[in-house]
Amino acid sequence: MDKCPICGNTGITTRKKDYRFIESGLDNVVLTGVEVVECNKCDEEFVSIPNAAQLMDFIAEQIILKPTRLTGKEIKFLRKNLLLNTREFATLLGVDRVSLSRWENDKVKPTASNDRLIRLTYTACKKTVDSTREKLIKRLRDISPATEATERYFVSVPF
Ligand SMILES: [Zn+2]
Repeated sequence: MDKCPICGNTGITTRKKDYRFIESGLDNVVLTGVEVVECNKCDEEFVSIPNAAQLMDFIAEQIILKPTRLTGKEIKFLRKNLLLNTREFATLLGVDRVSLSRWENDKVKPTASNDRLIRLTYTACKKTVDSTREKLIKRLRDISPATEATERYFVSVPF
């Protein structure tokens, strides 16, 4: 990148730093040591991710292995990473679309079994690596859906 994609300004600087990856739809993902381009005119920051699809899959795997209940944003992230709309994902989960939307919007918390169902459905639909599937099976015993916590995910880039 040699100019700003927004204003075309060539006064840009590139440096390595930690970047809060809100474009993911999650507010708790930090990319560490990523190249960030800063424009000195419009004050925007841009991050260049060489392999975005792989990064999203990696983040999704951290989410399905978390020991606490899935948040609405995380459920939405998993659905989007499967490239499904709410109707399609709700059909796979065997719930109605309104229930799924309420979970995603944090209006209603999924039950302990629905929380696990979401993780397992994600794993069944996505070609996750065997080690992730094995970790998930072990993790299922420990997930404590009563626990409310927003973990921070630190992801080092590039892959
Ligand atoms: Zn600019």
